[in-house]
Amino acid sequence: MNNPHENAVKQIDEVAALLAPLYPDKNRFDAAIARLKNPDQIIEGKLQITMDDGSTQEFQAYRSQHNNARGPYKGGIRFHPGVTKEEVMALSTWMTWKCAVTEIPYGGGKGGVVVDPRKLSSRELQELSRAFARLVADHVGPWVDVPAPDVNTTGEIMSWMVDEWQKVKIAKGESLQANPLATFTGKPLGLGGSEGREEATGLGGVFVLERLVAKLFSAKPKNEVRVAIQGFGNVGYWFAFHAHRLGYKVVAVSDSKGGIYADGGLDPVEVAEYKKQNGKLGSVKASVQTITNEALLELPVEIVVPSALENVITDQNAAQIKAKAIIEMANGPVTPEADQILEKNGVTVIADVLANAGGVTTSYFEWVQNLQGYYWKKEEVLAKLQPLMETAFDQMWELKTQTNQSARMATYMKAVKRVIDAMMLRGWV
Ligand code: GLU
Repeated sequence: MNNPHENAVKQIDEVAALLAPLYPDKNRFDAAIARLKNPDQIIEGKLQITMDDGSTQEFQAYRSQHNNARGPYKGGIRFHPGVTKEEVMALSTWMTWKCAVTEIPYGGGKGGVVVDPRKLSSRELQELSRAFARLVADHVGPWVDVPAPDVNTTGEIMSWMVDEWQKVKIAKGESLQANPLATFTGKPLGLGGSEGREEATGLGGVFVLERLVAKLFSAKPKNEVRVAIQGFGNVGYWFAFHAHRLGYKVVAVSDSKGGIYADGGLDPVEVAEYKKQNGKLGSVKASVQTITNEALLELPVEIVVPSALENVITDQNAAQIKAKAIIEMANGPVTPEADQILEKNGVTVIADVLANAGGVTTSYFEWVQNLQGYYWKKEEVLAKLQPLMETAFDQMWELKTQTNQSARMATYMKAVKRVIDAMMLRGWV
């Protein structure tokens, strides 16, 4: 099994080799790279909660704060039985790059609790969320670290955390300086959330899709650009929705139970409606074939979009990928070994830290609105998102062309350089 933190460190070494010639002072550069290999701080502890049956259970929790040279730590909190310290460390490192890619003024952080939230009642889940907020209370805040949802965490969970964090601040007599709404993002609209946040990750990925298609498939009409999307949760659904709206042919979608494929294309809204009615993916409009999640990735399409789990494209299946491009909407769906195979086969991979940055970018807009106490319309939010995503893609593509590196390497070079430069400006190294 891959150690995700080792992967993150390996990536830093690869980028460092490419960036080194840009920095005449080798000692300062080496010191910056060394610092980036580990998080600044990890807060960890056991969350103790009383279960509905009266027993007590403990859940291991982490918050990794990787780097804040460009601004407060930023990143989600995941509730998942597979969470490990190394995974949280790696994910916090990737958040540092993600925020640097779209130039939003944050560093990187990530939290995790080792728990299967489906096994908890709503009351137990609330108690766990509040316990997490207490664990990190002294280490998060609008100018320090701004958490958000991630795998299995929701706006409702953020609301409980906002409330608990505020309680702690009141108990300590610190409530006058505290701004609870600007301390967590991804909140519901009724509690300081932002219009557009829900669809932002998927839509941000579609802005990237549009740019990529202009580079790779400009000769094809949009309805001949076939897209297969793994995952039909929030990210996959909104990616499918906007890709379809713009005229791309979404030929396959899937959820954890499996996928469907239609030669002539699917209407994501209709498929979602079908799923609501029948409890599984399907369509009354299109004639569909069922396919496995594995087969979906190997379909003869132009673009594959893994939007669910990590490590789904590995050295075992990378050679079977027929698509010309992959847009990583999940965090870490392509392993480093698979990356090498894909590169050899001429498959362009748009890295997660660019492709799915629309989520955290809209979290940034939410935070700005919370700090101002002045809220924007959805059109305004999405109109601000588009140029940030497009600029990030264009800058990456220009560097990729100049340096002849992969899209992933060009993205990392942009991001890591911005973080190193901020560390040098601060005189940290
Ligand atoms: N969890 C999301 C991510 O991985 C969003 C983070 C945020 O909004 O801070 O990008």
